[in-house]
Amino acid sequence: MNPPAGQNVDYLRLSVTDRCNFRCVYCMPPEGVAFKPHDDILSYEDMEFFVRAATQLGITKVRITGGEPLVRRALPGFVAQLRAIRELTDISLTTNGVLLPRFAVELKAAGLNRVNISLDSLDPARFRELSRGGSLEDTLAGVEAALENDLSPVKLNVVMLPEVMSELTGFVDLTRDRPLHVRFIEWMEVGGCGPRGTVDAVTKAHLLEGLQALSAQGYGQFEPVLSPGGWGPAHYYRFPGYAGTIGFIGSVSDHFCGECNRLRLTSDGRLKNCLFSSHEIDVRAAVLARDMDMVIAVITESLEAKTFDKNVLPGKTARGMSQVGG
Ligand code: SAM
Repeated sequence: MNPPAGQNVDYLRLSVTDRCNFRCVYCMPPEGVAFKPHDDILSYEDMEFFVRAATQLGITKVRITGGEPLVRRALPGFVAQLRAIRELTDISLTTNGVLLPRFAVELKAAGLNRVNISLDSLDPARFRELSRGGSLEDTLAGVEAALENDLSPVKLNVVMLPEVMSELTGFVDLTRDRPLHVRFIEWMEVGGCGPRGTVDAVTKAHLLEGLQALSAQGYGQFEPVLSPGGWGPAHYYRFPGYAGTIGFIGSVSDHFCGECNRLRLTSDGRLKNCLFSSHEIDVRAAVLARDMDMVIAVITESLEAKTFDKNVLPGKTARGMSQVGG
């Protein structure tokens, strides 16, 4: 099936590594995951070749993800390679932020537009527990580095775990004085990641009730606002006079298949047209052969197989989020 009229697949999520310096409870099983051998991972040159092909089919936005993309060596150089592709209008990065203080200046100079930083708790002990060893202080330093270097809009991704309800006030307060955009994301059952089911996860409705309670406590009435920085699956709200916003991504309860504009490339060269599907096409051989026609043919095949109908959501994936790129 070709994308329906008006359906614009223009966004590529590009995973540059399956390795990560965190082991988040919702993303990886406790024993971790077996990382791919280095030889199986595409080089930056391979990825650049793929992106050039993808731009010929309408991709204009690339989000670099992982694993943790900043654990891969020389990421700013790769950003500069992508920046040289003139069809790309937006290059963004999803990160846990820990290595941003070290790389933010270089990333900005290389042409990175903006970052999303995962930040699941504002409580140091809970943060450590959820990330299985991560430091809240390090991630907050990453948020500062992103703001200082104008990698904006700076969005903060918070997975809606039950604990999040008790921290809602803290997250709202984060948006008061600075342009931070907190996005609550529904826990997704992808691969074998995480011990929790969606059943005991918090929903958007719970969080909206929490926001209403804050309004009643003197925060003022929050209003829906447009997505900071343009199109996206989140719905955003702003409290009166606040610099930042609160957003919700209902990936499960309110999934946005009908508007899905994305493709995913895994670090080992598999093309995925849906996060929730096991459908993958191996594009690695065509990329290694530098066969542009073949790469374009594979991307076309993936686009034609893409499902936009939320009523026929495909089955569960075999690979977890850290392997796919979230
Ligand atoms: N390491 C980077 C980071 O921490 O943001 C990038 C990779 S991570 C897989 C990308 C995004 O996927 C993060 O925002 C993370 O919160 C989200 N994620 C991972 N597992 C998830 C799950 N089971 N449900 C919802 N979001 C998930």
